[in-house]
Amino acid sequence: MSRNASLLDALLGLERPMLVALDVDGTLSPIVRDPDLAEIPESTLSVLAALGESPMVELALITGRDLGSLSRMEQLEGVWRAVEHGGLVLAPGERPSPRELTSEQGDALDRFRLWVDTHARDAFIEYKPQAIAVHVRGIAESDPARADQLLREADELAQSLGLHVRRGKALREAEAVHHDKGSALREIFKRSGARSVFFAGDDLTDFPAINFAAEHGVGAFVRSDEQRCAPSTSAVLLQSVDEIGALLSQLLERITE
Ligand SMILES: [Mg+2]
Repeated sequence: MSRNASLLDALLGLERPMLVALDVDGTLSPIVRDPDLAEIPESTLSVLAALGESPMVELALITGRDLGSLSRMEQLEGVWRAVEHGGLVLAPGERPSPRELTSEQGDALDRFRLWVDTHARDAFIEYKPQAIAVHVRGIAESDPARADQLLREADELAQSLGLHVRRGKALREAEAVHHDKGSALREIFKRSGARSVFFAGDDLTDFPAINFAAEHGVGAFVRSDEQRCAPSTSAVLLQSVDEIGALLSQLLERITE
C-alpha cells in the first residue's frame, strides 16, 4: 500500500465529524518569493469549498497571515480561520472584534518598525495588528549572508524590546502578543465539537499544531527544500503541495460517497 493510500485510510478511520485543519503557505499554496503573489490552486479551492459544506468535516485554515492577507487568497464559506499564528480565531461567519495593545506593546512595535524602515527596506515586510514579520526569502537567493544578518538583527532587536520572536523559514517575526498554532488548533477542536483532528503544515511554526493533531488524530508535515527536518513525533510526511491537494481531493471523494 502506498504511503498516501495508508494516510487516506488513516483519515477515513478518524471519528467524525473530523476537523481538517490546514496551514496555507507551503501547504495549500506553493511558496513564492513575494507572499502577496501566493495563490491556492483553483482545484484545491473547489475541494476546500466542498469539504466546508460536508457535515462530516469541520474545516479550518491556520496561518501566520493576517485576516486581510488571507482573504485575498480565499473567500470560502463554512470555514474556521486562525490567523496571525492563532492570535485571532474566528468561527465560520464570525467577525473579528477590535483588539487593543498596551502602550508598552505599541511602543515596542513602533521601535521595531523604525528599525525595519531604516535597516530592512530590502526585505518583504508584513505589518499585522499585533506583529511585524520580516521575510528574507527574496534576499537569500542572491545574498544569503545579508539575509542571515537581517534575521539575526531582527531577532536581537525584538528580544531587546521585550517582543516575542517567532522563527520560521526565512522569517523573523516580532510579536507583541504570543500565540501559537497548537493552541489555536486546540481551541477550534474544542469549539467546533469535532471528534478527531487532521492537521498539515510545512514550517517550524506548525510543529505545535502537528503535535496536537498527532495526539488527537493525524498530524502531517509537508517537506520542502527549505525545511527538511520533521517534528520529532509520529507526524506523517508529505512531499509537496501537490500531494496534499491530491490527498484532500481523495478524502472528499471518499467521505461523500
Ligand atoms: Mg506554511
